[in-house]
Amino acid sequence: MFWINYLEKIPCPKLTKNITVDTLIIGGGIAGLTNLYKEKAQNTILVEANIVGMGVTAGSSSKITILQEDILAKLLAKDYDTAKLYLNSQIDAIKLLKEIIQTENLECDLEEVDSLLIARNNKEIEKVKKISKFLQINNIKVTKLNKINGLKIKAYQINPIKYINGLKKILKNKIYEQTRVIDIKKENNYYLVYTNNQNIIKAQNVIITCQYPFFLKPLFLPLNTTIEKSTIIVTKEKNKPKLNYITVGKPTLSYRSYKNYGIYLSQAKATWHKNNDIYNYKKVKKLFNLKEEDIVSIWTNMDIISGDNLPYIGLIDKNMYIATAFNTWGILNGIISSQIIFDLINNRNNPYINLFNPKRIGKYQKIFNSIFSNIISFIKGIKKNKSWYSSHISFLNIKEKRIGIYTDEQGKTFKVKAICPHLKCPLEFNEIDKTWDCPCHSSRFTYDGKWLKGPSKKDITFK
Ligand SMILES: Cc1cc2nc3c(=O)[nH]c(=O)nc-3n(C[C@H](O)[C@H](O)[C@H](O)COP(=O)(O)OP(=O)(O)OC[C@H]3O[C@@H](n4cnc5c(N)ncnc54)[C@H](O)[C@@H]3O)c2cc1C
Repeated sequence: MFWINYLEKIPCPKLTKNITVDTLIIGGGIAGLTNLYKEKAQNTILVEANIVGMGVTAGSSSKITILQEDILAKLLAKDYDTAKLYLNSQIDAIKLLKEIIQTENLECDLEEVDSLLIARNNKEIEKVKKISKFLQINNIKVTKLNKINGLKIKAYQINPIKYINGLKKILKNKIYEQTRVIDIKKENNYYLVYTNNQNIIKAQNVIITCQYPFFLKPLFLPLNTTIEKSTIIVTKEKNKPKLNYITVGKPTLSYRSYKNYGIYLSQAKATWHKNNDIYNYKKVKKLFNLKEEDIVSIWTNMDIISGDNLPYIGLIDKNMYIATAFNTWGILNGIISSQIIFDLINNRNNPYINLFNPKRIGKYQKIFNSIFSNIISFIKGIKKNKSWYSSHISFLNIKEKRIGIYTDEQGKTFKVKAICPHLKCPLEFNEIDKTWDCPCHSSRFTYDGKWLKGPSKKDITFK
């Protein structure tokens, strides 16, 4: 992943003893680090299963804009007040981001740029018109772009890993890396949080920012969310304007500039769709007319999508908070989560508590979508055999186990149990990132079977 080139070595220890804290944060992406920053005056620590910043945040394109595809149009179709509150939450998140960067003098290449929303058919033109009118009523300067049936506003973009580096430097004494939470139990007024290093953290408050926690209400996310996967290509570019753009509808085409690079994203699809990674890569290259010799980085990334286009941020149990399901707009939503959770812990009012309440009543439609997508992913996964892949992959059934075999460039083979230990979905091999991916709930494993991310508790190694 391109942004990882900017990761600085700022070592943080593993947790190797039992400790008691006021607040524990689980997961060190943009949401976790910003929550830790907000809680820094307290006796608070953050534990991260791998290295801070290397999760979904490192794979993001990090546009900071309120032109988030058609989210505003979808919210407006429900009711004006919800759309208005969501808009305000994103404006407040931008203010908070700028405040943190300014106060701490963070060098994260924050830049103001033109941000464009583009329509390609009549339905999309209608959506752009609605969003444009809504933004203008709310005092946001909008320029109409007739040539592309779109609109333009002023927005921002950052280098997400430089932001993480900056916060990590300030907060490193409160961070434990290579420390994975494997269970949480409630005891009187405390939580006992168990780690893979066999330590226990006793915490009064727990903030969960690890994307897809398996240790909490096991069916909460599988029933309420789906997973979207996209392919990103970075190319070398010269003399291109500083800007970002995105289409208002699917198939998504998204671009942002970064120094002498262009960051292109497309093939954003729910994981139950046809998601052959090599096909997706070729498609993105073709859609943007990119030249092979200019390409410097390619990767895929998955984010969690809620049924109502709003993230889950807030109280999920007594003194337990969650921030997840950012609908691929988690830079701003991860940042605003820190203010909402800070206000909840300190019994202060916050205008977005109800809007993002993770316990809001699920719509039947939403649950139906999630179950449907799980079943389709499951069936498609079973059907996938060698012919689905371009090369290097085969499957065997050994003692009724589905064994996946990856053969590397040197001919060395690596066997894994190609069924996700979480809820038994058949795993797909991702030929771009060389990982085994779960299309149902976004767990990922290295080609030789080690857990990388997601709700699986176990590795999938096979000997
Ligand atoms: C292709 C793509 C493009 C995107 N582009 C944009 C964009 O332009 N603008 C925007 O606003 N958003 C964008 N997003 C969304 C945004 O990147 C994510 O929503 C956001 O980065 C999620 O941050 P996070 O902190 O919740 O998760 P992460 O960054 O994944 O952090 C979670 C951390 O928790 C750790 N963890 C997991 N389990 C445990 C455990 N049991 N114990 C301890 N630690 C654990 C993980 O290792 C990880 O480091 C994009 C998303 C995708 C997929």
